[in-house]
Amino acid sequence: MNIHEYQGKEIMRDFGVSVPNGHVAYTVDEAVEAAQKLGSDVTVVKAQIHAGGRGKAGGVKIAKNLDDVRTYAEEILGKTLVTHQTGPEGKEVKRLLIEEGCDIQSEYYVGLVLDRATSKITMMASEEGGTEIEEVAEKTPEKIFKEVIDPVTGLTPFQARRLAFNINIPKEALGKAVKFMLGLYDVFVKKDCSVAEINPLVTTGDGEVLALDSKLNFDDNALFRQKDVAELRDLEEEDPKEVEASKYDLSYIALDGNIGCMVNGAGLAMATMDTIKHYKGDPANFLDVGGGATTEKVTEAFKIILSDDNVKGIYVNIFGGIMKCDVIAEGVVEATKQIGLTLPLVVRLEGTNVEQGKKILDESGLNITSADSMAEGAQKIVELVK
Ligand code: ADP
Ligand code: MG
Repeated sequence: MNIHEYQGKEIMRDFGVSVPNGHVAYTVDEAVEAAQKLGSDVTVVKAQIHAGGRGKAGGVKIAKNLDDVRTYAEEILGKTLVTHQTGPEGKEVKRLLIEEGCDIQSEYYVGLVLDRATSKITMMASEEGGTEIEEVAEKTPEKIFKEVIDPVTGLTPFQARRLAFNINIPKEALGKAVKFMLGLYDVFVKKDCSVAEINPLVTTGDGEVLALDSKLNFDDNALFRQKDVAELRDLEEEDPKEVEASKYDLSYIALDGNIGCMVNGAGLAMATMDTIKHYKGDPANFLDVGGGATTEKVTEAFKIILSDDNVKGIYVNIFGGIMKCDVIAEGVVEATKQIGLTLPLVVRLEGTNVEQGKKILDESGLNITSADSMAEGAQKIVELVK
């Protein structure tokens, strides 16, 4: 789960990790009021969307006085920002962060991720802050330093110091940088983050070390014990189809092709998408209905797939292990009837109760093309949506 920059900064502040003072604003008046409250010489008006690259896209503006704040707030609120992370359709700005401007001396990068290769949390840091870290990783990977963290000791002060040295934090700011890194690690572990990215971390004219940006992602599987984090979820930032799917415990990810896929099991779902691609088709989504899907769940899955206007046909590929083929077949028939499906539908069933499942489909009187193998089904649906 993602949260906004201002929310991430509030969490960091709670853990004693230094961030500039700031307030969220939903309207232009609130923005001006927030700036008044801050009373700083320079105020920064920042678009709050779940995507980075806002600076380059005009979503971060430096205001010298309250009139500037008003002008920039008017300009940014309601605007659709297109950044390299939003995709071409962009994201509408509905909230602003009004923040104290800060006298930047140098910009750095600090990030924490769970490294799946070592199964350990890894802290990365670079002197090349403020820019896209992906670009640094590609062109000058030697400028990114890493510390793999032992879960028993946690990030040690020694490791943090070594990172700070490697990225050339000025001597007088070393202690504060180390404290920052240790605090960030604490946030990451205690709040069950999957990503914590600070780009830029800055040193200031008066010797401070603070986070000017904050990107925190959280492990969905841990949200049950992070109730305060779960409350920060902003559904308006998420794909409505994905929100609907999560209500029914379906793993759904929208893609930009035209073949809707309904599959059980993440591995089979991936393989199905690959097979469609192999036959020169394009999947419209990844959808794993899970192991214990009910007729109701299958019906909802169908509705979600069909709410995507790009979908020109559906391929159902189910291996009935725990899930029984007749349940799937009933769900498919029920959903097809409820929705009045007119698009081509290819179904491939295999596994438990497959004969009963096929019988249900055959006797439904609906226009369903059946397939006996994954490849055959993929070929058929690609052909039908042409
Ligand atoms: P994004 O990564 O989405 O572009 P950032 O929060 O990193 O957004 O802001 C972009 C740039 O704007 C930063 O690299 C920094 O130079 C500047 N900036 C952001 N916040 C402040 C601030 N409070 N004071 C001064 N400059 C800032
Ligand atoms: Mg940034």
